[in-house]
Amino acid sequence: ALDSRPNYLEALNLEQRRAVEHGVTGQDAPPGRPLLVIAGAGSGKTNTLAHRVAHLIVNGADPRRILLMTFSRRASAEMARRVERICANVLGKDAAVMTDALTWAGTFHGIGARLLREYAEQIGLNPDFTIHDREDSADLMNLARHQLGFSKTESRFPTKGTCLSIYSRAVNAEQPLDEVLLRSFPWCAAWQAQLRELFAAYVEAKQAQNVLDYDDLLLYWAQAVSDTVLAQDIGSKFDHVLVDEYQDTNRLQSSILLALKPEGRGLTVVGDDAQAIYSFRAATVRNILDFPSAFTPSADIVTLDRNYRSTKPILAAANGVIDLASERFTKNLWSERDSAERPQLVLVRDEAEQANYIVERILENREGGDLLKQQAVLFRTSSHSGPLEVELTRRNIPFVKFGGLKFLDSAHIKDMLAALRFAQNPRDRVAGFRLMQILPGVGPSSAQRVLDAMAEQADPIACLSKMPAPPRSGEDWQSFVRTMHDLGAGQAGWPAEVGLARQWYEPHLDRIHEDAITRQADLLQLEQIASGYPSRERFLTELTLDPPDATSDQAGVPTLDEDYLILSTIHSAKGQEWKSVYVLNVVDGCIPADLGIGTKDDLEEERRLLYVAMTRARDRLHLVTPQRFFTHGQNPRGDRHVYASRTRFIPAALLTHFQSVVWPSVPASAAPGRQEVKQVRVDVGARMRGMWR
Ligand code: ATP
Ligand code: MG
Repeated sequence: ALDSRPNYLEALNLEQRRAVEHGVTGQDAPPGRPLLVIAGAGSGKTNTLAHRVAHLIVNGADPRRILLMTFSRRASAEMARRVERICANVLGKDAAVMTDALTWAGTFHGIGARLLREYAEQIGLNPDFTIHDREDSADLMNLARHQLGFSKTESRFPTKGTCLSIYSRAVNAEQPLDEVLLRSFPWCAAWQAQLRELFAAYVEAKQAQNVLDYDDLLLYWAQAVSDTVLAQDIGSKFDHVLVDEYQDTNRLQSSILLALKPEGRGLTVVGDDAQAIYSFRAATVRNILDFPSAFTPSADIVTLDRNYRSTKPILAAANGVIDLASERFTKNLWSERDSAERPQLVLVRDEAEQANYIVERILENREGGDLLKQQAVLFRTSSHSGPLEVELTRRNIPFVKFGGLKFLDSAHIKDMLAALRFAQNPRDRVAGFRLMQILPGVGPSSAQRVLDAMAEQADPIACLSKMPAPPRSGEDWQSFVRTMHDLGAGQAGWPAEVGLARQWYEPHLDRIHEDAITRQADLLQLEQIASGYPSRERFLTELTLDPPDATSDQAGVPTLDEDYLILSTIHSAKGQEWKSVYVLNVVDGCIPADLGIGTKDDLEEERRLLYVAMTRARDRLHLVTPQRFFTHGQNPRGDRHVYASRTRFIPAALLTHFQSVVWPSVPASAAPGRQEVKQVRVDVGARMRGMWR
């Protein structure tokens, strides 16, 4: 019987194979009993999941009826590639066709957006809804705050951002407001009544305007499937539902899964509780721990204990760090990859030296034959990579920064996106409010007036066309109305209408911004990005949910065959691996961040974050500890240099796992310009640390 097995199974270990073959009988792949794969970093969970999907398809499962949820769009594209490679073994050319039919692969939010449009009518939604990113949501929250007058009558009322965080936490954790306030925002507890009123107004505004925020994508989905008929309807679209990184799902997400597959038939989830790093978004490790007992009889469990990714010394150091965690379910891993090289713990003077050190090592590795792509620099917070980005640019080393296409945040791109969003949904007030104020002579109050009038009408764009132009806006108003009308009617078609929006916007760009020329280049780049999406709706949805990666190359998105270094936050590096990994600012105040504010649970999450960072490395790991770093207002004293020491997560007892390096090795006094720093090193650091500890 063994010979008749497809050879891709041979590469797997016994436990992995058990997970892959679970429920598959000979030539049939019926939805089987629920399965949980829970195991440590690099043990092949994602690889096993890809093999399982391939194995299901090879055995006759319909790829169009497989729902595959990953943590990012990048991860789901990577998964599809792997599935295709594995299937090709057996299916040959059909593998690509089969993998292309895996249309329900994506993130929870992306899949949610799609299902909500598809089932809009049953749910009582208008399928043209637009999606607000966090900033839009905060703006809408702010409008509601002002309308209720809280920002005036209540001194020190929570900021729009805090209000949104509280709201979001209550929604995602399915927790009552008073509990959320008590547990996570005690300093806002005094405003409970006002917050309740504010959130009611916020929800009402979203509904009236036909907009959904991030949380709504899950919330509406969960609401929809709390209706058993609808749950069955949606659940029956899928024979198999598979979820990667299950430890970072929240209660809404688990309730959605359980509603879709109440008996767990065809359900597979994989994850690692030691890598749970999203509790700040209400993710709960309980989901993965409670998964088996959510079903009767309980789910089957597969655990994996061999790490295939990292060398023994790297794994030993990572295990050492996570062993100090107060609570953990997954066991320690072992590896067979011998290496004499311990991970390096590198002491440098400051962030500039840190950047120098990393660039040196990267170039050295490249000389040695490693592509830039096989190396990654990880950091706690996006702003930490600033000095390194400067150095990389200076030395002409191309890089891609994950998840942070900065130009999406710039005013002119937001203006363009607002135009497209308004065309999609003219009730989207945040978009309309932004657009109208671009026009000369139109201020907040006239914009509000126009939007109020539009809100009353069944056809808001027709209403807009009939409105008299606000005084002093003249021809600019007419051209705005005409453009919105044309965009809304969809005459130009996609993606040509992005050009239409640009033609309308460009004259304003010249007027508003001094550096209009560089911004014009951005608009063209936006057009190029847009042409990669099949429709306006998909473009807006996906750009909002999961922005493309930023590159050092101003000309645009690098092609796949180019070589570039990866820069990423640790959060976005989840699930990935590189030959060499450099972690920036492994010091108290960065990892863990927010000294003195966090609870014990927050601290444990920071420990897991370091564990996630370390376990991304296959052959070489460098943890860099600058003696001082720049903070961006994260501490009570605002933006400033802070003196720091090695992270508390690597206490002296763990130092044997590392090779300690001081860089540069020349004594500081021998190098010009270093004397000054040497003097302040002595004890100022300790004094300053004491200020906010
Ligand atoms: P993480 O917890 O970081 O998400 P993971 O458990 O999902 O890790 P994978 O990314 O699937 O682990 O696998 C880690 C590495 O081990 C990959 O390079 C993968 O190809 C390799 N690997 C997994 N299983 C095997 C195996 N049976 N034989 C050889 N290599 C394997
Ligand atoms: Mg994985």
